[in-house]
Amino acid sequence: MTEIATIQNSFDVYAIREQFPILNREVKGKRLVYFDNAATSQKPQIVIDALSNYYSNHNANIHRGIHTLAEEATAAFEKTRDTAQQFIHAATREQIIFTRGTTEGINLVAYTWGRQNIKAGDEIMISTMEHHSNIVPWQVLCEEKNAILKIIPISDDGELLMDDFERLLSPKTKLVSIVHVSNSLGTVNPVERIIDAAHKVGAVVMVDGAQSTVHLDIDVQKMDCDFFAFSAHKLYGPTGVGVLYGKKDLLESMPVFQGGGEMIKEVTFEKTTFNDLPYKFEAGTPNIADTVAFKSALDFVSRTGKSKIRAHENELLQYATSQLEQIPGLKIIGKAKEKTSLVSFIIDKTHPQDIGILLDNRGIAVRTGHHCTQPLMNRFGIPGTVRASFSLYNTKEEIDELIIGLQKAVKMLA
Ligand code: PLP
Repeated sequence: MTEIATIQNSFDVYAIREQFPILNREVKGKRLVYFDNAATSQKPQIVIDALSNYYSNHNANIHRGIHTLAEEATAAFEKTRDTAQQFIHAATREQIIFTRGTTEGINLVAYTWGRQNIKAGDEIMISTMEHHSNIVPWQVLCEEKNAILKIIPISDDGELLMDDFERLLSPKTKLVSIVHVSNSLGTVNPVERIIDAAHKVGAVVMVDGAQSTVHLDIDVQKMDCDFFAFSAHKLYGPTGVGVLYGKKDLLESMPVFQGGGEMIKEVTFEKTTFNDLPYKFEAGTPNIADTVAFKSALDFVSRTGKSKIRAHENELLQYATSQLEQIPGLKIIGKAKEKTSLVSFIIDKTHPQDIGILLDNRGIAVRTGHHCTQPLMNRFGIPGTVRASFSLYNTKEEIDELIIGLQKAVKMLA
């Protein structure tokens, strides 16, 4: 039986770990414990091999080339589009636009659909728990167009106040842009309900899937979102690649984002005609190698099975939560009923950064600070949190090491 077949039959975290070479390294003389998965995940050997194989054997610029390498590189690049289409259940491959990541996907929509459709007095709605990349592009657009940014409030547990959301909706609402899973709280937002309510007032809905695509099953057709953006690097894939999905009629009606090669049909000095979807939005030489390797990451997740991954990660979340709650003075920020596998917390009389440094001395990588959600930190009246985010390769023993590290840190700092 192959290694992959073994993993299909049962979830063996130790077999999974063997596929991630970085997990064998030491940090400050201790074996690495990597709990910064919400920032970026580590990469399995097959993704690293795919990158190396592409550059060793197939490297060429894509599309238009008639030589063998150009054809191979194009085929490999376009295969990732098909795999991404299946991964999020998009109806057609033309709706998969490659970007640099979630941030670029959101900006693309703000600069094209937003500029074309938002007028003075229109309202754009986001929530208190958005990442800066789902705040700033809309703020810039609102300033330019004299439009109004409305904010959905949240509860002390870190859940959206859905009644307030529904009260804020009106025919003036032209766009709702909402994070599917909060990177600071772990909250899973009820996007289908949000989309349904927003559509009833004629608003378009963009979903920030940066944190959700690695944990949840994504079906953009069932969800009925108008736009969905995510990043490869949070999904065991390379940095510098992402996907923007959009409904076809919207993508077709949108003006172009960047001008250059690839996105044109014909150029004269008098006039340019633009390419069809998805190339209309893919100007210039894309990040070919990383896009090719991204396919291996998506295949890795699908083969392992999202439901098995989720079950393992939920177990880690429950275990970590119960252990953390035993530490005197520790307060968990984000106690939504529906959560993915991350825990944000603060500890009395300590600064998150000091905790982070002391944990790093023990080889434990956590993230500290505002996590690019400053308005959310302001909502809780805190400068930042310590965030431990768990992945399919993490273990309960590693959580035990985190707890010991925290107990020692508290003794030193408090
Ligand atoms: N949205 C959320 C919720 C995120 O967590 C992140 C990254 O941390 C982003 C957007 C931005 O993603 P990227 O930096 O890959 O563009």
